[in-house]
Amino acid sequence: MHEALFTLDHPANEPIREHAPGSPERERLKACLAGMAGEQADIPLLIGGREVRTGRTRPCVMPHDHRCVLGVYHEAGPEEAALAAAAAREGWREWSALPWPERVSVFLRAAELLAGPWRSRVNAATMLGIGKNVYQAEIDAACELIDFFRFNAYFAAEIYSKQPASVSGIWDRLEWRPLEGFVLAVSPFNFTSIAGNLPSAPAMMGNTAVWKPAASAVYAAWTVMELLREAGLPGGVIQFLPGPGRVVGEALLGEADFAGLHFTGSTGTFRALWRGIGERIERYRGYPRIVGETGGKGFVVAHPSAGVDALVTALARGAFEYQGQKCSAASRAYIPRSLWPEVRVRLADTIRAIRMGDPRDFRNLMGAVIDGEAFERIMGYIEYARASADAEILAGGRGDASRGYYIEPTVVATRDPHLKLMEEEIFGPVLTVYVYPDGEFEETLALVDRTSPYALTGAVFAQDRYAIHLAHSRLRHAAGNFYVNDKPTGAVVGLQPFGGARASGTNDKSGSLLNLLRWVTPRTVKETFVPPALFTYPHMGAE
Ligand code: NAD
Repeated sequence: MHEALFTLDHPANEPIREHAPGSPERERLKACLAGMAGEQADIPLLIGGREVRTGRTRPCVMPHDHRCVLGVYHEAGPEEAALAAAAAREGWREWSALPWPERVSVFLRAAELLAGPWRSRVNAATMLGIGKNVYQAEIDAACELIDFFRFNAYFAAEIYSKQPASVSGIWDRLEWRPLEGFVLAVSPFNFTSIAGNLPSAPAMMGNTAVWKPAASAVYAAWTVMELLREAGLPGGVIQFLPGPGRVVGEALLGEADFAGLHFTGSTGTFRALWRGIGERIERYRGYPRIVGETGGKGFVVAHPSAGVDALVTALARGAFEYQGQKCSAASRAYIPRSLWPEVRVRLADTIRAIRMGDPRDFRNLMGAVIDGEAFERIMGYIEYARASADAEILAGGRGDASRGYYIEPTVVATRDPHLKLMEEEIFGPVLTVYVYPDGEFEETLALVDRTSPYALTGAVFAQDRYAIHLAHSRLRHAAGNFYVNDKPTGAVVGLQPFGGARASGTNDKSGSLLNLLRWVTPRTVKETFVPPALFTYPHMGAE
């Protein structure tokens, strides 16, 4: 079906289901959680539409109860990486030539399935596999992934409609071709939606992809891969390739057909991949597109005019939801001395009211951190603060990994605005606070701007409009997502396009038209209807 200029209506964001006691969605989800926790999954690779089992398996465990094994996944090695690259090459021939409405229809169908019959399953996998509570799973695995699919389809149509002007007798056109080769999608553990979007966004634009999910999130990622298969994604469009990052990454970066990297994860891993691409640049057919959204050190800076209720709520939600394992998490706060006594007491009260435990008990706000390595790293920061003469632990500070990887919501106060807890990404439930003299708001903004290499998210709390204006201008480059009187987490597709600069990434704003533009390489076509038949120009006539 080609003979029309097809359009899509602007989508609405997927409504969040409450899962309140007695609601049908709660019953469905509880049934899924019980059913899936009692099964043993055997998760294969998917190459050219074929399931591949290497026999080299690793367990998928619940972070909140690491004795509970959800199944195993098979790991890829260099051989499977080469097969996946070949399958992506083969799949590209048909997929890149398929008209775009056919392609985006697959993802629009996936959105409908996820909004309906697949919702509980993908939410349950996210709760069991990466330890999110019901609300965090719902806004990620259901709503955000549905939004990615629907909004990207809409943005793709918008891109295809963009055409150059033509003058009389000539028709100028732009063809938005996919890249010539495959896109390597490397996803982090902490968002099922990001994992699903990384291979899907390039695929919507006609590319094929090899998707390497994070080891600790294979279980949740696989449910998304199954959803896409159910939606009718042809074999060879997205190859699913769990395995050791370094091994799989090295093998795929060595392929001449490597055409782009769509990455979300830590700054260190992204830099290593970028270096690997640079070292091999002569091998590639083109210049690979490199898109990476990486670490963050979200800040909250309060002006003396800030409202304390809103500030304390933003600090607690921003720092501790999903155990602080969000790139956007509030990780450092700057509070004026006049507000600090009240903020300190209210924050401690709020933290005392937070319940922590297994996400299958819906009363819990917090769960465990993702794995033993993360537990050790985060506890290392807390121990550093405990031993520092410049820091004091005001709340939390204890961890227990005996059953699940639990760390208490922790607040550290410091006299040193350059304590490493104020500068480095911790990626756990730790908020560090620096109290500044009320008269030094402007100096504090300069401090916020200079303190960390990251520039992903940040928030200012103030009632005073001059203070808000000052923060806007002084922190112009300090965050790619800037919030006024709101927590720095929870960006919504289509409303607050997400991404940061400096060490936080290439700022290509996932779930926006800007991101999709990275996965196309336009061809300009000029057609002259009656071409000139003489080579001479009028000025060449006799004098
Ligand atoms: P990570 O860097 O440890 O891993 C990310 C992915 O890279 C995983 O799939 C991993 O297996 C793979 N990998 C690791 N080494 C590799 C190598 N040498 N070659 C190829 N692949 C390799 O990150 P993580 O712990 O999964 O996620 C947390 C990080 O992600 C945090 O830094 C967080 O800020 C960041 N993050 C950023 C955003 C954003 O939008 N900016 C969103 C989510 C997470």
